[in-house]
Amino acid sequence: MTQFRVLVIEDDPDIGRSLGLVLERAGYVAAWASDGETGLERFTAELPDVVLLDVGLPEMDGWEVLERIRSMSPNPVLVLTARGLESEKARGLLSGADDYMTKPFSHAELLARIGALLRRHPSPRGEQDAYDDGVLSMQFDRSSVRVHGREVNLTPTELRLLVELVRRCDQVVSVPELLKAVWDDPSGSRTDRVKFTVMGLRRRLGWTGVEGCPLENARGFGYRYRPPTSA
Ligand code: CA
Repeated sequence: MTQFRVLVIEDDPDIGRSLGLVLERAGYVAAWASDGETGLERFTAELPDVVLLDVGLPEMDGWEVLERIRSMSPNPVLVLTARGLESEKARGLLSGADDYMTKPFSHAELLARIGALLRRHPSPRGEQDAYDDGVLSMQFDRSSVRVHGREVNLTPTELRLLVELVRRCDQVVSVPELLKAVWDDPSGSRTDRVKFTVMGLRRRLGWTGVEGCPLENARGFGYRYRPPTSA
């Protein structure tokens, strides 16, 4: 099953560990390296889908790590810095960083930014045109949805929402991200749209019980499609 990998290169052990937990809870496979050298080793060994890179690292600093990563791969890098200066931001983006966050930042915003990076840089693992987990099967190009082999008719909005969640299955997708992706609503204010569409989807797919429903509500943050076979 598609699970995106995130590598955190950060020398502060508290931040490194807590980011690892946050990422794993959101469905990512997270790895943490506490210096640039180790970070580069893990990068070449694991080829993560996204790198979170702290600028202030001992010995080899974050800028050098970024340069080395860029010489190897186009995988998205999100630079983390405590400095918050516009000049640092410009330097980061000129050096090939894909995004930039100033500490302290909220975990919700971090997850939203990672989700956006993954959408802008789809990895080959995220680009299948069909999906099948033994219960739900979909042909993305033909808009066909089946549950236990039975064809299910969805409204266009329900279908777009399901595609969004299934393409990123096992990850929590935030409500603002869903509003943007499915309704093209960047304001993120009409959260009821998502709620009612998920309710409709559950009904049509026959997943009305709360227990074991693959379309999970993630504690006020967003929704996740958890494939029934891996539950
Ligand atoms: Ca640091």
